[in-house]
Amino acid sequence: MLKSIIVESCIFCKIANKEISSEIVSEDENFVVFKDINPKAPIHFLIIPKAHIGPVNTLKAEDKDIAGGLVLKAKEVAEKIGVSGSGYRLIFNVGKDAGMEVDHLHLHLLAGKPLKFES
Ligand code: AMP
Ligand code: ZN
Repeated sequence: MLKSIIVESCIFCKIANKEISSEIVSEDENFVVFKDINPKAPIHFLIIPKAHIGPVNTLKAEDKDIAGGLVLKAKEVAEKIGVSGSGYRLIFNVGKDAGMEVDHLHLHLLAGKPLKFES
């Protein structure tokens, strides 16, 4: 396990600890992948570390294994569900202007149709 910090008030910590239910797609020692409750594409997964770590603008050098691991996990899941060839989008929302709602580091994986890119 990379780290084991849990924040009581954090909804994604609760999902990682199964205190609230979610549609889990895949899980290993360090990461959980689950379906976004408000999907923006036919496939919309969230990849989170089990340990609480803040958003990208709070990352430190010591977090590089977690941050890199999230991207590698997204690639692994994309291969598993068969969208590596058709394509997918990975998104980190950071802060207010990006509409970030949850401050537990998470990576969105969107796929399943041609995706528009808008701001
Ligand atoms: P962000 O805007 O990057 O912070 O994204 C947070 C995402 O978490 C949003 O897309 C929400 O739809 C999603 N979300 C919030 N609560 C839940 C939940 N209980 N289960 C699954 N997804 C959730
Ligand atoms: Zn958390």
